[in-house]
Parts: sequence; C-alpha cells; structure tokens
Amino acid sequence: MLRFAPSPTGDMHIGNLRVALFNYIMSRKRNEPLLVRIEDTDKERNVPGKEDEILAILALFKIEHQEHQLQSNNLRFHRAMALQLLHDKKAFNCFCTSETLEAKREASKENKIAYRYDGACENLHAEEVIDNPLPFTIRIKKPSDSITVRDIIKGESTFAPNDIDSFIIMRADKYPTYNFACAVDDMLSDVSLIIRGEDHLSNTPKQIAIQKALGYDRTIEYAHLPIILGHEGKKMSKRDDASSVKWLLEEGFLPEAISNYLILMGNKTPLEIFSLEEAIEWFDLETISKSPAYFDIDKLKFINREHLKGLDPKELSRYVGFADEEIGRLAKIFLEEVSTLKELREKISAIFAPKVVPDEYKEGFDILRDLTIKAPHFDDYESFKNHLIQHSGLKGKALFKPLRILIGGAEHGPELNDLYMHLKNYLKEVVK
Ligand code: GLU
Repeated sequence: MLRFAPSPTGDMHIGNLRVALFNYIMSRKRNEPLLVRIEDTDKERNVPGKEDEILAILALFKIEHQEHQLQSNNLRFHRAMALQLLHDKKAFNCFCTSETLEAKREASKENKIAYRYDGACENLHAEEVIDNPLPFTIRIKKPSDSITVRDIIKGESTFAPNDIDSFIIMRADKYPTYNFACAVDDMLSDVSLIIRGEDHLSNTPKQIAIQKALGYDRTIEYAHLPIILGHEGKKMSKRDDASSVKWLLEEGFLPEAISNYLILMGNKTPLEIFSLEEAIEWFDLETISKSPAYFDIDKLKFINREHLKGLDPKELSRYVGFADEEIGRLAKIFLEEVSTLKELREKISAIFAPKVVPDEYKEGFDILRDLTIKAPHFDDYESFKNHLIQHSGLKGKALFKPLRILIGGAEHGPELNDLYMHLKNYLKEVVK
C-alpha cells in the first residue's frame, strides 16, 4: 500500500500535488493500492470544504486511489495503542504544564544548549499518576539505540536517541499528535513506501521509534522529496500564487502539463514532454535530484503550450468555450503567441466581441464591416479580399489594419489567411 496523506488545512500546494503524483505513479508501478488519508486530527487547523477540494483536484489530475480514510476515524486505534505503550512501560504520563516546559526551553536557549525533555515525569510512582487530578500528556520514552533512516533520494541519516527525545504522542485533550497518528495509521494500513516532502525527514525517526515500540517489524521504505524553490531561490510559500494548484488551473494551465512539469523538475527524464501514462513506464525515484527543485513558470508555459498543441481540436474548442472543432483549430494558430488557456480565451473572445477601433481606422473599419455583412460566402481568403478591395477601394495598410481588427479582434496576430480559413463560417457573427 502507498499513501497520500494531505491535511485539509489550506489550498493544495504544488509540493503536495507532486507528492500525490509520485505516490500514484509508484503505486501503479508496483501494482499496489493507493490510500488517500485525510489528516484531519488537528481540529483547529481543519478548513471546511478542503477535503472535497483535495479529492476534486486528485480526480482532475487522474490520480486514482483505491482506499480513502479520515484520520479522525482511527482515533480509537490511536488511543488503544497509546494505552498499550503505557502498559508496556514504553510510554509515560507527563504532568508538566506548558508553562513549566516553556520555562525549561527558555533556560536551554539562554544557556545555548539544545532543549531536551528532562525526564521529570518519566519515573513517577503509580500512586503519583493515579491520584493526580491534573491534565496530562503521554510521552513515548526515547529509544535506547540510534535510528537510521534509509531514504531512496536522500540516502542514510542516523538519529541519536537524544535527538529523538521522549516526545508527546497524546495531547492533554486525548488526541494524538501528528507523529503518533501517522505512525500508527501507516502501520495499520501496511504501508510499504512513504513518499512525502523533505520537511518530514526529521519526523521519520520518531515515527520509526513509535512503530518499533509497538512491535512492528516491517521496514518501510522512504523517499523524501526536496523542497520546491521559487524565483530568487526562496522557498515557495503559500503567498506565491504559482504555488497554488487552484491558481495554476485558473490561469489556464492544463492538468497534464502541470503533471508533466512536476515530474520533470529536479529530475532526469528520458523525454521533456510526456503524459502521465508514459511517465509511469520509466519513472524512477532514484533519478530525482537530492537538491531543491526550482520552479520556473516560463518552463511550465512552454510545456503547457506543447500539451495544448497536442490536444484534439474539439477538446481545445471546449476549453475555450465553443463546441465546434473549427474554433479549436483557430485556437491552435494563436499558440504561436500565447501559452495558457486563459490567454487563448482572451484571444478568441476578442474576435467575437465588439471591436475597439483606433480613430485612424474607424472609417475603413465601418466600410469593411458593412461590406462583409452584405458579402456572399467566399470559400477562400483571396476571393474575400478581392471582393473587399473591389468594393471599398481600400488597399495596403488602410485595408489590412482595419480588416485585421474586424476579423482578428486585434491589430496584430496570425496571418489573415489563416484567420479567415477558420472563421469563414462565423463571419457574420464576428463582424456583427
Ligand atoms: N499531513 C501531512 C502533510 O500534509 C502528511 C505528511 C506525511 O505524508 O506523513 O504534510
């Protein structure tokens, strides 16, 4: 089983989508099911509606999953396992208040030493625990040996017991911490390979420590993906528009182009432009670079344009709001100038919208418009043009500039001949 474990706390970031894609690809390659686990345990941070949004994005990107869980539904297992650890004396009740802990943390900071839990509650007598009316957390005892994480991308890292520390697994409100819920759930779902962002690398030894304490002996494989950096090499934060999947879709990037780019970035791939199905053939976690990936919107635009060029004209037509494949063909000729669906829609709607005509071309424009409305149907541009020349007496720039605005919606753009070929059946609507 592989899993994608998003928290329903905000808009989906491209980093999360990349994690989802890689998990999906590996589940397909290994022929193992994919679980989508919504990590909703942190009640305060959950945002209503985000779960549906995540599922809709996965569907749009054709990331199929076979299992679906809400982490909060596993609460009884989290509690049972915490009790088991208490019973086995692998965990203990901690009555330290947050003020006490904060003061100790401050003191370590002043003395310039790394803060570690000082074991204050580790060896309390049974009566001290049972008779204690104060709220408590449950801490797992730090492991006796170091833990080595073997990561397919990052290599090996070893963590000393002191760095893992005796950390909290259940909060005073009787809800599990992220590390505990995650470690228990991965174990219960028999997860074989965990692919996630490198910000979780320091959590991994803690999760392994939990599973070991619970007697789980399956070795889970790990792949922690390097972070994605934006321009100027800064981490792409939620504030960068381009880091939001929703924003990219609204800007008119195709899901297949976004997937292509997220698989390509920071990776060595045999092709530059490919489909998700093709990537499943050759994808290899080992070729992913250890160093951060750089997000380059121009590269994404280039890839998007290539995918738009490859679309069936009928499909492209639908994307720009029409049903006729001729409009899809028309849209394709604009791909020389633009690279997103949003830009394409602007170009096409300018053709059908009332025209904005500079004063110098107004007169010519009105003459040509009138002639076009009354003209018979011409199958080719040459005949149409000759008809206009003959009846208007206009030529050169005085003819072509207003004509371009009339049937192209702009002063500059594709060849008039090409525009005409795709628009000849729409002329009356275009010039209305
Ligand atoms: N809910 C965590 C996140 O969204 C999941 C991390 C994991 O995959 O374990 O970052």
